[in-house]
Amino acid sequence: MIAPLSQAVFIDDTTLRDGEQTAGVAFTRAEKVRIARLLDRLGVHQIEAGIPAMGLEEQRAIGDILALGLSAQVIAWGRAIQPDIDAAIACGAGAVHVSLPVSDIQIGAKLKRDRGWVLGQLSRAVDYAKGHGLYVSVGGEDASRADARFLAAFARAAQAAGADRLRICDTVGIWDPFRTYDAVFSLARQTTLALEIHTHNDLGLATANALAAVRAGASYVNTTVNGLGERAGNAALEEVVMALKVIEGSDTGIRTGRMAALCRFVADASGRPIHPSKPVVGSGVFAHESGIHVDGLLKDARTYEGLSPADVGARHRIVLGKHSGTRAVRACYARMGVFLSRAEAETLLPAIRGRAVARKAPLADADLAAIRREALPGGAVPMESAG
Ligand code: MN
Repeated sequence: MIAPLSQAVFIDDTTLRDGEQTAGVAFTRAEKVRIARLLDRLGVHQIEAGIPAMGLEEQRAIGDILALGLSAQVIAWGRAIQPDIDAAIACGAGAVHVSLPVSDIQIGAKLKRDRGWVLGQLSRAVDYAKGHGLYVSVGGEDASRADARFLAAFARAAQAAGADRLRICDTVGIWDPFRTYDAVFSLARQTTLALEIHTHNDLGLATANALAAVRAGASYVNTTVNGLGERAGNAALEEVVMALKVIEGSDTGIRTGRMAALCRFVADASGRPIHPSKPVVGSGVFAHESGIHVDGLLKDARTYEGLSPADVGARHRIVLGKHSGTRAVRACYARMGVFLSRAEAETLLPAIRGRAVARKAPLADADLAAIRREALPGGAVPMESAG
């Protein structure tokens, strides 16, 4: 028996930082501000707004977002070096994320340093940021490939230095839920720091791994809208929030009915359209065609919907196609104000299926009207003329 979650879960969204790091994606300053506003209206707790050390334009965007006076806390991302922290302070940020590699491959090949240097730099950076009155999140980059004992030492050092939170990063997306759970569970026993999970979707496990980390005690999840992010992307905000709600019964306080609008805006601004099968917000996730499913759905939507479309600002949609049955045919024509008998629906079915196969797409209302004219001349009664 799995017990209810014992901790509240907070969403720290990084669409504006890791999301924008997606190769080929760049937001304008106005788009960054708009996305921040929409994230805030959604009820996201923290917004990772960008990387001040990138330069003046990014600093201005972060400054604009800070000037909105959002309810969400705005956090600036930087490396654990003084110039990056100074750039965050110059923007007016009250919270900073300081990132340090923790795997030997990154410490050695990227930084040409050793573990001892990492721990020293961690203490210096946290000390400096805390000295400036900032909320400090410490990030263990590439934690999923780090030596577990060193990761624990890193966590203890972050706590000793006075950090507010530790982010555990599966930077290259190689964890599964079991390994994620073990690592986070173990860290949670070695530090009292709030833990955050940052996952990547290289193996399609980003959301699952985020949930595993929450189960193991993480209280923050780093997400992006539409799962935007480096390579295969990050854990998607909309998936994490709905999974926590549906599976864990955990209310993150996110106004889920507003997610679809935000996801559409980010899809446009990023030039990354939402795939029809994208969980939660894809155009196809509440569309039904198969005769058996539609029959059940029309009797009670819960028969074939695990997520309620109303919860995410969507509606279910019945489409006619190759797998349709007479119930769906009658329901779709009724929506157009045309009431068919069962026999009439049977008559139309072969033509509907044939056209759907030829088209390789669901049929539009105009197609249905044409099929009826051809197959049932003067047949069914339109609603307008019925009364
Ligand atoms: Mn990342």
